[in-house]
Amino acid sequence: MRVHRNEVDGNLKSWNRRMKDDPRSLKNKEDILNPEEHGRHFEALREQRIIELALEHWHNITCLNFVRDDSARSGNRIVFTDVDGCASNVGKHPLGEEQLVSLAPECIRLGVIAHEVAHALGFWHEQSRPDRDQFVNVRWENIDKDSKGQFLKEDPDDVDNAGVPYDYGSIMHYRSKAFSRYDDLYTITTFVSDYQKTIGQRDQLSFNDIRLMNRIYCSNTCGRNLPCQRGGYTDPRKCDRCRCPDGFTGTYCEQVMPGYGAVCGGKVRVSTGWTRISSPGYPNEFKEGQECSWLLTAPPGYIVEFQFMGEFEMYCKVRHSLCMDYVEIRNSTDFANTGMRYCCYGTPQTRIRSATIDMVVLFRSFYRGGKGFEARARALPANGAWNKWTPWTPCTASCGSCGTRMRTRTCAYGACEGEPMETEVCNTQPCTGMCAQKKEETGECGGFLSLLRGIRCKQ
Ligand SMILES: [Zn+2]
Repeated sequence: MRVHRNEVDGNLKSWNRRMKDDPRSLKNKEDILNPEEHGRHFEALREQRIIELALEHWHNITCLNFVRDDSARSGNRIVFTDVDGCASNVGKHPLGEEQLVSLAPECIRLGVIAHEVAHALGFWHEQSRPDRDQFVNVRWENIDKDSKGQFLKEDPDDVDNAGVPYDYGSIMHYRSKAFSRYDDLYTITTFVSDYQKTIGQRDQLSFNDIRLMNRIYCSNTCGRNLPCQRGGYTDPRKCDRCRCPDGFTGTYCEQVMPGYGAVCGGKVRVSTGWTRISSPGYPNEFKEGQECSWLLTAPPGYIVEFQFMGEFEMYCKVRHSLCMDYVEIRNSTDFANTGMRYCCYGTPQTRIRSATIDMVVLFRSFYRGGKGFEARARALPANGAWNKWTPWTPCTASCGSCGTRMRTRTCAYGACEGEPMETEVCNTQPCTGMCAQKKEETGECGGFLSLLRGIRCKQ
């Protein structure tokens, strides 16, 4: 994200107002789809229709109104063209000219158009946020040499995130291997590796994409703010109810979304014994389109631990390291932000723990049926305790500082913070005596310790 500060201050408001004053919205499709009148920029009606649907998508979930005006010849406006791939400048033209949004035939997809329109409305790419280094690692060495500029961070003075946090699930986030030198190289890796398959989706605007757009353009649309729960906020299209993060519903987001296409999900109280959840019909295959949402809740003083088990299969694009269908887990304190998405074939090995008494699990199958997942969850005391460390293992070398030793510990109960294994360098005194071979450089231990190493004696 995302928003060019100039867009928010001053001059943007007039544009916003112009759109809102005109009662004609894209709901009047008959007017808009007259091909003789409007066929100038695009040959195919189908393409126009998809662009309109993308604009309608933004319209339905924000206070923004888009008005088609083919006779406009001057002033700030979005002009759709196809001369420059899938591209758009960020924000309004500073001199009051047209803002060209280029949509080549391969960009005529709802998600891609929603992405380009977001640029025109002031959104940067998510991984250009000034705070991105806390969330992702840009692998410069893997980026195609002409495309490195696409990965620069934006100047904090140019960006207003309106308090919306970094979102791996944003429609503005690049894919894992975007602009790579070779097909299979990662150009962006997520710090928490379980978010890797969340980044790069172009299927839907994330809750935070929409929240940011609403914060920037629609914060004064409703007279009052409702007491929305779970990170929801007053819906600028329907001021008497909240817009809720995926998985929640009800006037104030107080309910868990019911299953779609299956009876599943809901609020589950977990105890210290294991509770099992699974996709519909497991171990039989689930059907495409089915959705389940769970809110797993532990007793006060406890957290939720979650673990996949059994056969796992959800449709993904392996080549892009990207989930198409997924099980999403939200385990932080922020249920409005996109969680870790699990997909592809093979049981995920991570044991996932919640930061609070709650954990959200979303099963979403937009594309295909398949095996699905099975998992178990239980409550753990929030403050766990470790057993004692085992004694150190013998040093792997008797001198020369190249040796290491190791010890381990196990978690006695609850959620233990820290690592279950520790290693350290040992026997750092220089070797003495007759050396069969001088300076046997192995490269295994470097840094200041190599000073101590001096001559490493062959044992
Ligand atoms: Zn873009």
